Amino acid sequence: MIVTDLPSCPSLKEYRRIVGDEQFSALEELADRLSGNKLQEINSTRYGGGVAEILISYVPFLNALGLETVWSVMEAEPAFFDVTKTLHNFLQGRDGFSQSMIETYWEAQRQNEGLIEDDCNVVTIHDPQPLGLIEFLTTRELEQKRLLWRCHVQLETVPTETVGSIGNILRRLVEKYHASIFSSFQYLPLWNVPSFIIPPFIDPLSEKNRDLPRSEIDAVLAKYGIDPAMPIVTQVSRYDVFKDPVGVIQAFKKVRQKVPCQLVLVGGRACDDPECYIVLREVRETAEDDPDIHVLDLPPDSHREINALQRASDVIVQKSIKEGFGLTVTEGLWKGKPVVAGNVGGIPLQIRDGWNGYLVSTIQETADRILHLLRHPEKAAEMGARGKDFVREYYLLPRGVQDHLTVIDQIVNGRITARDSVICYHPQVVTTRMAGCAAWY
Ligand code: UDP
Repeated sequence: MIVTDLPSCPSLKEYRRIVGDEQFSALEELADRLSGNKLQEINSTRYGGGVAEILISYVPFLNALGLETVWSVMEAEPAFFDVTKTLHNFLQGRDGFSQSMIETYWEAQRQNEGLIEDDCNVVTIHDPQPLGLIEFLTTRELEQKRLLWRCHVQLETVPTETVGSIGNILRRLVEKYHASIFSSFQYLPLWNVPSFIIPPFIDPLSEKNRDLPRSEIDAVLAKYGIDPAMPIVTQVSRYDVFKDPVGVIQAFKKVRQKVPCQLVLVGGRACDDPECYIVLREVRETAEDDPDIHVLDLPPDSHREINALQRASDVIVQKSIKEGFGLTVTEGLWKGKPVVAGNVGGIPLQIRDGWNGYLVSTIQETADRILHLLRHPEKAAEMGARGKDFVREYYLLPRGVQDHLTVIDQIVNGRITARDSVICYHPQVVTTRMAGCAAWY
């Protein structure tokens, strides 16, 4: 199914103003060079989840740049999504994937056999759900089209040796693609496919991230009974043990013994994960009806309210124990806030300890760093300003699109031909864009 109800893209001039002429002109040049190509993005859900969030901004932006792009979504029975949830967990290192699930997986691939559009020549398939669609292309189509697999999952080491096992099937499928894209070096499997690193990004003009008038921010604080005159420490996250909201409350209680302040925990109610209710109950028990701890349980479309709460905060916390990339960190930095966050997953890609925030591992460290920032607001403001510039350079939509188009340019214009090489690219690692590609085995 092609998505037809996409929002229109905000003016490109606005993006140019945000990222600067130089970066934006380079992006336009790249888009011009690729004009005439027709792109297709394929994933498994229209709403909810990080990939849908990305595509909602990404596809209108590409079209506004003059590159015709369509977004197609798989259709499948609920049983397929149970299987792919188990598969997702399996790829992140948990057991539970059984051989019988493989048939359900293929049934859904067959149901979506015609999803790849005949007239699109660059097709990006997101995550494992639609990965198998490549099997339905003819040899001729495989020669004419360029297929990329973009993996947003934190891929742990997947056992691939046993022929017919899910790991083996995935590897075999991925190796049919012309290239694969991962969010971080950590998740890069050394399979025989050219691979690129493109970190996630946020859209600075989305409801979650655009500037808001002070009156709107104040109205949101008033709505939730948050005192604008007392320092605010905020964590935005699903109620999940890996986000450690209980640890955040414990750290906050230590801070509050020394400095008056409030804690805002923002999480979602619409969660299909039964564990989330257990975590939320534990959070409420730990908060003990403390009037300075605001435990919010917001609907999934609360983007502007979350934006307002982040903007109203003095310190943003993301005390994760395990984390893919941590978009809430990016969002906090973009709002010019110092971020105190767990030293895990993709968070160290965003926070340079002591420069634009602090990396922490324990409750005591978290408390110490929050306290330090509340006691030194000038230092906090300096860090916040650096964080904002850092996100502007590396983690905004135009950069994400530029990186993706750079990969397409490499693939379409034939610069990558060796099927057995792995090419790594990360904008923070190489100084000249794409010039620093290194062959890896
Ligand atoms: N988020 C939200 N409502 C909530 C909790 C989180 O809209 O109640 C958003 C948050 O602003 C961010 C995303 O969900 O954009 C979470 O992404 P992140 O990478 O931080 O964590 P994930 O949930 O993917 O593990």
